[in-house]
Amino acid sequence: MTLPKTTAELRALDAAHHLHPFSDMKSLNAEGSRIVVKAEGVWLTDSDGNRILDGMSGLWCVNVGYGREEIVEAVAAQLRELPYYNTFFKTTHRPAIELSAKLAELTPPQFNKVFFTGSGSESNDTVIKLVRRYFQIKEKPEKKIIISRRNAYHGSTVAAGSLGGMAPMHGQSAVIPDILHIAQPYFWGEARQGETPEEFGLRTARALEAAIDAMGEDRIAAFIAEPVQGAGGVIIPPASYWPEIARICRERDILFVSDEVICGFGRTGSWFGCETFGTEPDILVMAKGITSGYMPLGGVMVADRVAEVLHEGGDFNHGYTYSGHPAACAAALANLAIMQREDLVGRVANDVGPYLQARWNALAEHPLVGEAPMLGLVGALELTPDKLGRTKFPDVGKVGTLARDFSFKNNLVMRAVRDRLIIAPPLVISHEECDELIARVRKTLDDTFAELK
Ligand code: PLP
Repeated sequence: MTLPKTTAELRALDAAHHLHPFSDMKSLNAEGSRIVVKAEGVWLTDSDGNRILDGMSGLWCVNVGYGREEIVEAVAAQLRELPYYNTFFKTTHRPAIELSAKLAELTPPQFNKVFFTGSGSESNDTVIKLVRRYFQIKEKPEKKIIISRRNAYHGSTVAAGSLGGMAPMHGQSAVIPDILHIAQPYFWGEARQGETPEEFGLRTARALEAAIDAMGEDRIAAFIAEPVQGAGGVIIPPASYWPEIARICRERDILFVSDEVICGFGRTGSWFGCETFGTEPDILVMAKGITSGYMPLGGVMVADRVAEVLHEGGDFNHGYTYSGHPAACAAALANLAIMQREDLVGRVANDVGPYLQARWNALAEHPLVGEAPMLGLVGALELTPDKLGRTKFPDVGKVGTLARDFSFKNNLVMRAVRDRLIIAPPLVISHEECDELIARVRKTLDDTFAELK
């Protein structure tokens, strides 16, 4: 086969042979895919030579930015020394040992043990088995229902997709039993007329209490939630929400699982989102930022009180060939060393976070924007035909997609969720790059507004 060279040749091969995840196959084949060839810092280069500002850190994962030789070297060195060995049957290796200890140091104090996986989805499949196993060992096997939230995203395997609350995904695949979805704290989209954010946050949190009462506490195993719902549209809850959820979890015999696949590793200005909101989870789910996407890796941290019960139970019949893959663990260790050395978490909390937030929040003045919330370095713009009435566009998603396409044309990667534009740039973005990002967002909003007139 002669090697394809031009963008057109590459696109033709791609269309012929590659089934893309989460892509509209029909329009992909008609338009061809965008081919990214290299990246540095916060910048991508495509096969036509365009320099694109990656406002999404890939898929919310490249926290330390692209082009980090230190991670590349660590992976290469590990591949030379021990490219693979597993962690089954009481075996392990140095990178898995060192990373477990590092995660125990970085996570909140109740966490000292990690179960390694290859992704966020595998981590959440693991969560389902772990919480059910926990209550089996405690001789409460009927406690197996897991409460999640509508519009949550916890991954795309059958089990993680069931745990998530994405209706379009449920519509295409079987959903596993014993998962219950309650309301999400989406003030803009779901508050009642005249309700304050405070009242809405409390009412939505109390949906958890109501669900536990309705089903019976003796049947509920766990509640799972992201600190900030990411793929659901960057839903930052009102201040009253998390303290009320924390109270309910404390008072009831259920496990609280914080899915930190997006919020973990600095995104919200703390190492973990639960620290930003002051909650105390029993289980903490991680992936993405753990390696900044340089290698696939995920993990599930369990609090001491959970680990003690699991130990009593003996065998846990679960694991993946690549659980604790040595090269992925080496990537994570190098990535976390960069994060600590450069104090990227502090930078998000005290420097670049506030800098971008101020400019982002000001976008709420644009005639197309209803709200422009941002926490740490994750934000959203709700597009609306009527700012004051909190009205939605009639054909939900159409204007969001239009704006997202304009943003691509303006060489900025943003994501559209319904009519909400999303941003989550690498944590290393400079002030000048923030200004450039905001200028491109403004142009995108103006282009979209002009098209709608
Ligand atoms: N959980 C959350 C909160 C996520 O955002 C994602 C992915 O976006 C996942 C789980 C699934 O992770 P993965 O795609 O690595 O399976």
